[in-house]
Amino acid sequence: MKITGKCCICGGKYVNYGKNSAPIKSGRCCADCETKFVIPAKIREICKATLKRQRKIAEREFDSMLDSMTKWLEARKNANEKTAKNCSDSLNLYDEIDF
Ligand SMILES: [Zn+2]
Repeated sequence: MKITGKCCICGGKYVNYGKNSAPIKSGRCCADCETKFVIPAKIREICKATLKRQRKIAEREFDSMLDSMTKWLEARKNANEKTAKNCSDSLNLYDEIDF
């Protein structure tokens, strides 16, 4: 194997082209640093992005549910059973549930 560079993370030597050190640093790193630092950092970034996306989806779903719930309660208050039924259907509420 031919040594071609210095790892930008540990300062050791890497072989061939080394590994991409992003998102830890910009530059090339050794295979050990890729395993110890770069891959875990990439996994953390993916997890963070996934959580952020899921939070946005959950917020949208919550807003939509709250909107339907509000309409349902208003309709019930106004004794508009047809609208109440449509709203409760959209919330997947069962008829047995009575507030
Ligand atoms: Zn290294």
